[in-house]
Amino acid sequence: IMNKTDILIIGAGPVGLFTVFEAGLLGLNCTLIDNLDKPGGQCAELYPEKPIYDIPGVPFQTAQEHVDALLEQIKPFNYDLHLSERVDLIEEITLENESFWKVKTTEDKEFISKNIFIAAGAGSFEPRRPPNIEDPDKYLGKGVEYAVRSVDKYKNKNVVIFGGGDSALDWTVELSKVAKLVTLVHRRDAFRGAQHTEEQMRALVEKGKVNLLTPYLINSIEGDDIVESITLKNFESNEIEDYEADELLFLFGLNKKLGPILDWDIDLNGKKIKVNTENYQTNKDGIFAVGDINDYPGKLDLILSGFHETTLAVQEAYKRIYPGERVPFGYTTSNSKLQEKLGVKK
Ligand code: FAD
Repeated sequence: IMNKTDILIIGAGPVGLFTVFEAGLLGLNCTLIDNLDKPGGQCAELYPEKPIYDIPGVPFQTAQEHVDALLEQIKPFNYDLHLSERVDLIEEITLENESFWKVKTTEDKEFISKNIFIAAGAGSFEPRRPPNIEDPDKYLGKGVEYAVRSVDKYKNKNVVIFGGGDSALDWTVELSKVAKLVTLVHRRDAFRGAQHTEEQMRALVEKGKVNLLTPYLINSIEGDDIVESITLKNFESNEIEDYEADELLFLFGLNKKLGPILDWDIDLNGKKIKVNTENYQTNKDGIFAVGDINDYPGKLDLILSGFHETTLAVQEAYKRIYPGERVPFGYTTSNSKLQEKLGVKK
């Protein structure tokens, strides 16, 4: 069964989220899809605690506060949010003599829509894989993960965490509360994460609750179908050592990847999608690109530019759904039905 939606938005960063608001004002519903496990794009993933000073009318907000405010703002409107899946395929289809876009995700979900909004920022964030393992994804969900999806999964398990940044340190401390044993493996005995968390980790090592292995690197994963054990290489002695392991967590950070966007046959300018500045449509009717992913003369990669772009694009999307009709325009303050929806008190 295919889900039909007025606007399908690829990317739940700030610009994708605000699209739901602008579409909602015109009575259009949206579906958001993001590869990350949370909404907010770069703001939530790269700099949640950094302040933002240039949102009009908002002198100060941390990036996460900005995302939370956007989520609050779109609460009155109809939208679906699909996380931890990437849009891989866009194709044109005809239904009852009308043409639509069909989208398929990595979870095999399909959606159809008259309007696709690519709000993909700098591309989808993909976890970095361990460098010298041939096909680590073969064990994905069977002992290999690139993010913690549920803490329960690690209860009473032999967990091996790889990495030297904040997430490796944070999860070493957290999972040591439930796991049988947590082993932290890093290529050198220095960490990039918060000093406070590193101290907590080292205290757990002293107490024998965490096993710290440096300078080590993964050498192989053993097991036919699921992870049964691993071998690690000691950088100093060059020796290969065997270790027991039930669950491996590779927390090496994220790469930004344009990935599938390159296959959608859309005109690009370098790594960005070309749009016109009248309605931010690409060379394909009904496919729009808004926010950091687009390019036009004078483009600035700022949140407020994306808000403007998507506001104009939504107008065109409306016209594509209701051809020939006037796009309802009014200030949010002069629309009484909307005021009801937004819960504004007179
Ligand atoms: P993004 O925030 O990049 O979100 C895009 C989302 O799309 C991502 O979550 C990604 O996973 C998803 N995605 C991509 N491809 C796919 C796919 N195929 N399938 C599913 N999902 C996909 N801007 C300001 O205005 N003020 C500031 O103070 C400011 N400070 C910044 C500080 C830092 C450190 C950085 C890195 C940026 C800063 N920016 C700032 C820039 C701002 O973050 C970006 O302009 C903004 O995030 C762009 O929003 P977006 O919605 O276009 O894209």
